Amino acid sequence: MSDVRIDDLPVRDELRGKSPYGAPQLDVPVRLNTNENPYPLPEPLVERIAERVREAARNLNRYPDRDAVELRTKLAEYLTDTSGHEVGLANVWAANGSNEVIQQLLQTFGGPGRTAIGFEPSYSMHGLIARGTGTGWISGPRNDDFTIDLAAAQKAIAEHRPDVVFVTTPNNPTGNAVPPETVLALYEAAQAAKPSMVVIDEAYIEFSHGDSLLPLLDGRPNLVVSRTMSKAFGAAGLRLGYLAAHPAVVDAVQLVRLPYHLSAVTQATALAALEHTGTLLGYVEQLKAERDRLVTELRATGYEVVESDANFVQFGRFEDAHTAWQKILDRGVLVRDNGIPGWLRVSAGTPEENDAFLDAVRALKKEQS
Ligand code: PMP
Repeated sequence: MSDVRIDDLPVRDELRGKSPYGAPQLDVPVRLNTNENPYPLPEPLVERIAERVREAARNLNRYPDRDAVELRTKLAEYLTDTSGHEVGLANVWAANGSNEVIQQLLQTFGGPGRTAIGFEPSYSMHGLIARGTGTGWISGPRNDDFTIDLAAAQKAIAEHRPDVVFVTTPNNPTGNAVPPETVLALYEAAQAAKPSMVVIDEAYIEFSHGDSLLPLLDGRPNLVVSRTMSKAFGAAGLRLGYLAAHPAVVDAVQLVRLPYHLSAVTQATALAALEHTGTLLGYVEQLKAERDRLVTELRATGYEVVESDANFVQFGRFEDAHTAWQKILDRGVLVRDNGIPGWLRVSAGTPEENDAFLDAVRALKKEQS
């Protein structure tokens, strides 16, 4: 049995020889590799989740609200309150993590015979989910400083005429935000070429110095903003992502969503978390300050750092990033090697975790000089 491997099975051709997404889940004292929020949920929220889930448990013999109306209403209120842009129930859709939101978007607007483009390095799951949905993937360019090369991006869009365009802002793994003018120019280019859907992945927007691009949704039915509760809400384990778009987009993704995809337990937990938005956004402020401290200290130590609007920082440059990654790990701190030559990424942790990280990279610098 054990000598049968994936490639011995009749798997789809495009999956042959590929590896699944996966950051190492190592048991080390300081884990700063997956852009999680380091703060556990506050105890009153844990209590409220228990209460809400207990209520939901009484009805688990029934399927959950298929349209997640209460949850989508509260998510719309959150978006309106934090962006000043009016978002309603009809504009919002939710799924199990923004990965599932992206999958549903690609099932709806991509698929066999269609293509999607992203400007890389960026969130690698965009390309992987494209592959999983049979959508052709086009790797668009970036400048050496990881900003989007607008002219080259416009050219790539005009040439390939993709059906879906991904813009991640703030970008993962580099941390920099994309200026609204650039996003608008990409939207215009995508409309002129096809027209196609433009997905703005705002997974980290709450950590940004700038504002959400939600107001751009006005009058642009082919634009989608995708969000998650995994980062700012400190609820990566909950698996709740959502999108805001024209109501027609929300109607369209329902053509591909599995019925009852969001469990009653998930809906209850997310609703409880949304009742504690104020406290959770307080942690975001602390993390932003810690992120800024990481940037300052890394620069003071002599590292190059990409300007960050996220809860992580990309730093370098290393002759051999993987060896540097291992040396930092040997000091008990797990950061991320995304395979970008010369660079590593660190997520902002608690002040103590960040101190441990900074000690490790200072020691590494000494060793190298
Ligand atoms: N988008 C970006 C840019 C991300 O970095 C991540 C998570 N690392 C996601 C989406 C997916 O997040 P989730 O599925 O947890 O909502």
